[in-house]
Amino acid sequence: MKPAANANETSDPIGNNLLRALRTDDWTILEPKLEEWSAATGTVLHQPGDTVRSAFFPRNSSLISYLVILEDGRAIETALVGREGAIGGIVSYGRLPAFSRAEIQRGGSFFRIDLHHLEEAKTQSLTLRHLFARYADCLMAQVFQSVACNAAHSIEQRTAKWLMAAVERSGTDDLTLTQEQLAAMLGVGRSYLSRVIHDLRHRGVIETRRGRIRVCDPHGLRLLACECNDAVSQHFDDVLKGVYPADENDLAETADVPVRMHR
Ligand SMILES: [Zn+2]
Repeated sequence: MKPAANANETSDPIGNNLLRALRTDDWTILEPKLEEWSAATGTVLHQPGDTVRSAFFPRNSSLISYLVILEDGRAIETALVGREGAIGGIVSYGRLPAFSRAEIQRGGSFFRIDLHHLEEAKTQSLTLRHLFARYADCLMAQVFQSVACNAAHSIEQRTAKWLMAAVERSGTDDLTLTQEQLAAMLGVGRSYLSRVIHDLRHRGVIETRRGRIRVCDPHGLRLLACECNDAVSQHFDDVLKGVYPADENDLAETADVPVRMHR
């Protein structure tokens, strides 16, 4: 029996919106194969070139980053995945070498599934396969938007956008990360980011403590961010209504929703 949808972190037994969007019969196929798993911030799930053996669904406030590793060793974030999604084997078939590093950005609880079991489930159910294909389309949209964002938007806008995305996807305004980590993920200099953070603090939209950033004015932060996060959440809304956490209360039956082919 699939537990009822509930946005409340403490009372939502699934804690992942993509899994919650499964039809009941698809949940019945997948649920026995899902392992509850927890891991700390900074845990690396795979490195570039590793064979991907499992898929992970962040639950509640857990977050995973996809990071591209450059020759000079810098690790730049290309996508942030929270309870609206999953990583590893959802968007591809079978065990493949990883292109990027997947690292836990905010530790907590996850569902893990062996890719053999996931592939089996996909062959059993067309609707399950379609749901994950729609999610792949949303993840691709996020990466497309991120390319444009990095080319066109200021570091101030990108910093505000990242904080907004992290708050929405984790469901908490208290983010555990240092300014060094944020600067590294955004691919910007530490001293420049310090000035940006100082400005956001001065405007009263964030507070900082050692190793933490708390968003105290989400509306003000949104006004300072570029449009990129809103564009991604709008695409989620079009393709997987209710799965992006900003719209928790309207989980639609997704099986009959056509995927928009506009790229
Ligand atoms: Zn942007």
